[in-house]
Amino acid sequence: MSTRRRFLQTGLAASATLSAAASLSPRLFAAGQDTKKLGYALVGLGRLSTGQLAPALQKTEHAKLAAVVSGTPSKREEWRKKYDLGDHVYSYEEYDQLADDDAVDVIYIVLPNGLHAEYTIRGAETGKHVFCEKPMANTAEECRQMIAACEKAGVKLGIGYRCQFEPHHLRAIEAVRSGEIGELRGLGAGFGFTMPADADPDQKLHWRLDRSLAGGGPLMDVGIYALQFCRYITGREPVAVTAQTTLTDPVKFRQVEETLGWTMTFPSVLGDDLPEPLRAQVTASCVTTYNFSGFNQGEAFGPDGSVLLKPAYSYTGLKGFVKGEPMNLDTPDQFAVEIDAFSQSVKNGTPFKCPGEEGLRDLLAIEAIYKAAETGRRTEVAKV
Ligand code: NAD
Repeated sequence: MSTRRRFLQTGLAASATLSAAASLSPRLFAAGQDTKKLGYALVGLGRLSTGQLAPALQKTEHAKLAAVVSGTPSKREEWRKKYDLGDHVYSYEEYDQLADDDAVDVIYIVLPNGLHAEYTIRGAETGKHVFCEKPMANTAEECRQMIAACEKAGVKLGIGYRCQFEPHHLRAIEAVRSGEIGELRGLGAGFGFTMPADADPDQKLHWRLDRSLAGGGPLMDVGIYALQFCRYITGREPVAVTAQTTLTDPVKFRQVEETLGWTMTFPSVLGDDLPEPLRAQVTASCVTTYNFSGFNQGEAFGPDGSVLLKPAYSYTGLKGFVKGEPMNLDTPDQFAVEIDAFSQSVKNGTPFKCPGEEGLRDLLAIEAIYKAAETGRRTEVAKV
C-alpha cells in the first residue's frame, strides 16, 4: 500500500475517532448503567472558576458542582449560598478532608500553575480523581510526579485542554489529516493579550508575572494553546525548536518573558518510514505575548490550500475556514463538554483524551523553547 493511501486511511480512522469522541453520544449513557452525576470540588475560586467552570457545571450531563475550596471566608460563604453547598465548603487548611467527603468524586485544580503539582498530588492521596487546569505544572519533572501519584493512588488524571473537544478544532484536525489541503507543510499559530497596567509587579505582583507561581510568562499561560494546536493538528511531537524573546517593559516583566516567538520542526505527517531526503518536515511558526491583544489564530498550510481558525482559542465565537470556505459550526460551552468527557471516562473506566502525559508533552516542549530562547540555539525536545 502506498504511504499516501496508508496515511489517508489512518488519518480518516483517527478523525472518525475524534468525531465520535467530540459528539459525546448521549446514547452511551442512555444505554449505560450509571446515570449518576459525578460531584466536582473546585479548588481555587478565581476568574475561571467563577466565570466559566461553575456555570459549566450547571449544564453538564455527567457532572455537578459538589464542593469548593477557597482561602477567602467571604467567598466560601457566597458560594455556599449561591450553589447550595451545605457543609461541602473548605479552606486550604481543610483540603485533605475532601478524602472523607462522599459527595466529591473529582477534585478540579484551578489554582495558579505553581500550585498544580502539590494540590494534584495531595488530591490523588485523598483517593479522588483529579482534573487539573493547564498548564499542568511549572516543570516536566512536576508533571512526572503528578502522573506517578495518580497512578499510585489508582485515580484518573485529566488536564484541561478544552480546545481538544471543540468542533472547529476537531474539524481542522480532520481536514488536515484526511489530506484536504494536501500534505501538511507548515503551521502558524499565536495567542496573546495585553497584561493590564495594574499588574505591574512594583504595585501588585499578579501571580501571572511571578515566576514561582506561573512557571513562566505568556508561553505557559496562552502560548500553550498555539503549541497544542500544532501538536494535535500534526498528531506528532516537535523534534526541535528555536526561540527568541522581546522586551519593552523590564520592570513589569522582570521575572517572566513578555513576548516570545518560536519555531518547531515536526516529523512529516506522511510517516517516518520514507527515506530521509524525501521525508517532508512540517515547520511551525508561533508567537505568544503579554504585550498586545488580537493575535488569536491557528493555521495549517498544504499545497492545496490552508485551514484557518480565527479567533481560535476564545471561549465563544470561534471561526474556522477550510480552503477559504467557512466551517459554519457552533462553539459549545467548551468547559461543559470537556468536564462531561472526563466524567464519562471516569464512570466507564475508559481512557481520557487528555491525560497527564498530554500535559507532560507540552511541558517538555515548553522547557525546550525556554532553553532555546536562553541559549539562542536550536534545541531538541526531550522525549516522554
Ligand atoms: P485567578 O487569579 O483568577 O484565580 C486563581 C485563584 O487561586 C484565586 O482565587 C486565588 O485566590 C487562588 N490562590 C490560591 N493560592 C494562591 C496564591 N498563593 N497566589 C495567588 N492566588 C492563589 O486565575 P485563573 O484565571 O482563574 O487561573 C487559574 C488556573 O486556571 C491557571 O492555571 C490558569 O492557567 C487556568 N486557566 C485556564 C483557562 C482555560 O481556558 N482552560 C482559562 C483561564 C485560566
